[in-house]
Amino acid sequence: MPDAAFEPARPQVLLGLIGAGIQQSLTPAMHQEEGRHHGLRLHYQLIDLEKFGGSPADLPGLLNAARKMGFAGLNITYPCKQAVIALLDELSDEARAMGAVNTVVNRNGRLIGHNTDGSGWARGFRRALPDADLRCAVLLGAGGAGAAIAHAALRLGVGELRIVDADAERAAALALELNARCEGHRANACVTAEQALPGATGLIHATPTGMAKLPGLPLDAALLRADLWVSEVVYFPLETALLQAARALGCPISDGGGMAVGQALGAFELFTGCEADPARVERHFHHLLNLRESR
Ligand code: NAD
Repeated sequence: MPDAAFEPARPQVLLGLIGAGIQQSLTPAMHQEEGRHHGLRLHYQLIDLEKFGGSPADLPGLLNAARKMGFAGLNITYPCKQAVIALLDELSDEARAMGAVNTVVNRNGRLIGHNTDGSGWARGFRRALPDADLRCAVLLGAGGAGAAIAHAALRLGVGELRIVDADAERAAALALELNARCEGHRANACVTAEQALPGATGLIHATPTGMAKLPGLPLDAALLRADLWVSEVVYFPLETALLQAARALGCPISDGGGMAVGQALGAFELFTGCEADPARVERHFHHLLNLRESR
């Protein structure tokens, strides 16, 4: 029997999430469990601005502290995804294009900003709907999640992206920015879903409607058609009213869990350099969601 005192220490990895109102986040448990499978002593700390009465103005102090304490990285969420950019040493191409950072990696004291939201959505989407017809997708919601997905959708090969937002100026600004960055004029803003959906092959939903605290449908269910694939971003609950309506029609669907898992896989790989196991992380995510739903 080897003496425990002489066992080589497992590598220690310190991670954290900076955001407001993040006490229910499943991210710490997802990273810690995957880290355990890779033989890492991974500690993931919630840094909740709401809990200590903080704001994005606290970011410089928090980043300096994380650097001094040897954090390997941080996830960043609302309301800090844009504010953090000015404080970083370097940005990945994806984060620069999206103008938002959800993952910061500490490389020998240099803080490098990444964005795994868009690529995470694409990972989940490809796993759920590998044969989806990408000719024309409607994106409902041009906020933080919608903007990240819009970039990823064009990278994935969506031929035309029609963007609808209750704030028409936001939809127009996103279309303008996408067209400036990507070849061809592939993004168009539409005023309503009724206007955007005819002829579309898919619908990506990226508004908060359907969340447990904001139940309901984000559009008239009569606009859905059986030949439309539907990609949802809301994951609590996993089965939103939109997915229920789409499922009842027989639409191919991709739920919001795919993006939640996909962005965590991307962040885990950036933080640790280890390749995460998608099926294992997905199983654990569903287990955590079931626990949360049963509370
Ligand atoms: P946000 O507030 O930045 O943006 C939401 C946008 O939706 C706004 O521009 C708003 O005007 C628009 N909107 C609201 N209702 C609308 C409607 N009925 N029709 C058209 N537009 C409408 O929010 P966000 O950060 O982009 O988050 C959106 C949702 O995505 C939230 O439910 C969030 O939990 C979820 N999300 C999921 C993941 C994941 O990993 N699955 C990741 C990030 C965000």
